[in-house]
Amino acid sequence: MSEAQQQKILYIEDNRDNQRLVQRVLGARGYLVLIAEDGPSGVSMARESLPDLVLVDLAIPGLDGYETTTRLRSLAHLDAVPIIALTADGSFTSRERAMVVGCDGYLIKPIDTRQLPVQIAEFIAGRRDTISASTDEASVLRAYNQQLVERLEQRVRELSAANAELQELDQLKSQFLSTLSHELRTPLTSLLGYIELFDRGMLGKLSDSQNDAIKVMRRSGDTLAQQLNNLLYFQELRTRSFHLRAIRPQESLRQIIVNFQERAAETRLGFEARMGEVAPIQADPSGLEQMIRSLLDNAMKFTPQGGRVRLALHDEPSRLIIRVEDSGIGIAPEHQEKIFLPFYQVDSSLARSQPGSGLGLAIVRHVVHAHGGQVTVRSAPGKGSMFTVVLPRSSSR
Ligand code: ADP
Repeated sequence: MSEAQQQKILYIEDNRDNQRLVQRVLGARGYLVLIAEDGPSGVSMARESLPDLVLVDLAIPGLDGYETTTRLRSLAHLDAVPIIALTADGSFTSRERAMVVGCDGYLIKPIDTRQLPVQIAEFIAGRRDTISASTDEASVLRAYNQQLVERLEQRVRELSAANAELQELDQLKSQFLSTLSHELRTPLTSLLGYIELFDRGMLGKLSDSQNDAIKVMRRSGDTLAQQLNNLLYFQELRTRSFHLRAIRPQESLRQIIVNFQERAAETRLGFEARMGEVAPIQADPSGLEQMIRSLLDNAMKFTPQGGRVRLALHDEPSRLIIRVEDSGIGIAPEHQEKIFLPFYQVDSSLARSQPGSGLGLAIVRHVVHAHGGQVTVRSAPGKGSMFTVVLPRSSSR
């Protein structure tokens, strides 16, 4: 029999021995037996590929067989598909409850290997068992509903407790990261201070090779400082409030631009900053600086030597547009939304060539949203990227 004509049985069961047995017995009769280990995956499989019959064990973990049947019966395309309950508990209550929630038949374990194929064929051909006339359907349903609500209540309690525990762990993790970053920053600041003194020749004349070594040390130290800065800033975002006041972007960004000009010269990149005349804007100065630093840092990190990076500010009556453009490695379309998520990196391997913790753009997006603005990216692999930040002039925040 070809697969196209093969009848499909969806068997929802967590017990491996039973799975194998049913697969063997029904497989030998030409059925294709699909196995789902639990209720939710059974429901997804039934959605994706229409079975000819569903065999569901009532005692599966998570969603039990009754709940799984209730869920399957809510799928319109399964209306005509028989659902058969399978259980070791042959009590009248289980049987009646299974029928009331939507099963069309009931088989008792242990599986009778001779009878099973016959019964399955009968159900596929249209056999439908009925509830006994003495059953009070309403009271069976009421008892089932009651049990559902109790299970739901229990689950909500467990989830709330798990959530509280996670929040506490998250809080501890944040505290740990903050403490760690502070502890690292203090010695780093003094290291960088001394490197600066050496660099400026204030601690005696250095040879050319010593000067070169100092430059490498300064660059590594700056990278470390930037990473720590991002980590601290990110930790503080949740509790941080932004204080918007009228600032002149050219003035607050002056020092940052000087720093990046130096870096561009050292790393052989063309760097152009076009500020023009920009009217004052309501912004949080440190937020604005952090945002531009992250965007320029990325542009320079991901642009090979000989490439160019450009920062441009466009003043408009109702908004300020900031563009950071590079001719670097670019970002493939499938990553362009995800790079704004915390810790997301296109290359997350430890062997990647550029330092980073994946927090820069998450911070950028948070800061931009806090100003009521938007940040977007246009990029093509191998051609470069352009990040555009739009800050409204009359922010409602
Ligand atoms: P980090 O730079 O610390 O890894 P970000 O959040 O700033 O973290 O950026 C996330 C990822 O987005 C980077 O790791 C990189 O893969 C990608 N990316 C960001 N900016 C650029 C850019 N200008 N060019 C190419 N890829 C970029």
